[in-house]
Amino acid sequence: MFQKVRNQMIDKSIFESKTAVYYTLGCKLNFSETSTIAKMLKEAGVRTVTRKDEKADLCIINTCSVTEVADKKCRQAIHKLIKQHPEAYVVVTGCYAQLKPQQIADIKGVDLILGAEKKGELIALLGDMHKREQGEILSTTMKDIKSFAPSCSRGDRTRYFLKVQDGCDYFCSYCTIPYARGRSRNGSIQSMIEQAKQVAQEGGKEIVITGVNIGDFGKSTGETFFELVKALDRVEGIERYRISSIEPNLLTDEIIEFVAQSRAFMPHFHIPLQSGSDSVLKLMHRRYNTSLFAERIRHIKQLMPHAFIGVDVIVGSRGETETYFNETLHFLERLDISQLHVFSYSERPGTQALKIEHKVSADEKHKRSQQLLELSNKKTEEFYKAHIGKEAYVLLEKPKPGMPFHGFTENYIRIEIEGIEQKMNNQIVKVRLEELNKQKDALKATLIP
Ligand code: SF4
Repeated sequence: MFQKVRNQMIDKSIFESKTAVYYTLGCKLNFSETSTIAKMLKEAGVRTVTRKDEKADLCIINTCSVTEVADKKCRQAIHKLIKQHPEAYVVVTGCYAQLKPQQIADIKGVDLILGAEKKGELIALLGDMHKREQGEILSTTMKDIKSFAPSCSRGDRTRYFLKVQDGCDYFCSYCTIPYARGRSRNGSIQSMIEQAKQVAQEGGKEIVITGVNIGDFGKSTGETFFELVKALDRVEGIERYRISSIEPNLLTDEIIEFVAQSRAFMPHFHIPLQSGSDSVLKLMHRRYNTSLFAERIRHIKQLMPHAFIGVDVIVGSRGETETYFNETLHFLERLDISQLHVFSYSERPGTQALKIEHKVSADEKHKRSQQLLELSNKKTEEFYKAHIGKEAYVLLEKPKPGMPFHGFTENYIRIEIEGIEQKMNNQIVKVRLEELNKQKDALKATLIP
């Protein structure tokens, strides 16, 4: 849909000598979308505010609603930006705007609230940017969210995030994403190839494939995620792809086998498990059991013993008794994985999970989360240590002032390296991996000439 708006006649005189500030909360998709909006406004003549004391004419806030804490952070960010830019025309969009538009409209100073379907039309909807007495809500119901807004953006590092899919049809019992982002849909493989070629032209070397449920890619175009992966692998100039979080039931053997022998897909997987108890997985309405998950890990490791595997887990969900949590802990202990991303369950209004009686206290959630974080640190350290003394290829990323250059190996080991010239940013170099750094979050490395 961003494309559609790009092709519409936009009265550029509205934007002449205007300034804007952007604020994004939440996931990579939101960052990618905000970045596309900012790029289009820049093309229309809007300058991004860079100095702290400078006042913007336009504030765009892209929100998240994954937990109650996320909702609160959104409200805080909106208040803060209104205070910092009292004259600015304030637009709020994203998942929180779709799910709770009235809560945002009640905040004095907000002018426009755009739901998911309207996000792609943001620029066309800005109008004369005169401040309003009361925020206007432009939104549709969840079932009317149908359009796909392509976006591809450079993150704060060297890698690009290519959105290939949006929405979800799964309706896991704890999740509000299908209500906030609508049903599963995607752009065509051809349009993804064109965007990847554009990245290569800009000098980008690494693309992370993102979406809400990326394995579901292809529903709206009669294509498949596997076909997309094969087509992207052929784009010249892109040397690395990473597949962001993919549902275990959709990470098929053919995808794993293709990645193992592909030109540019990295041996790096991110798979949401959510619980290592089959009883809890059933309560969550997940579409796999622990034996399928373990089989996927075994298959990856058999073909790519060096692969990095990150796993998402939710602790303290409704129904997770102590016995079920211990099942999760023991399942994860046995699994050959490299890192855990641990989330504490958060109650979301309107979800099926609220019908499950057993509730876990905040203290218990904290305790469980600490146990899993400890396990995660242990697994990551073991994975890193197993690579000491080995050679690897690293994509160098410009450091913050005073910090050493860093980057990631093909299998996602973070490295730190001294004595690199600034001009080597975004270059792929061969290194030897040495000991762990002090913080134990990277391996030190030396350049192999
Ligand atoms: S797969 Fe489940 S958890 Fe993931 S976005 Fe869809 S409904 Fe939410």
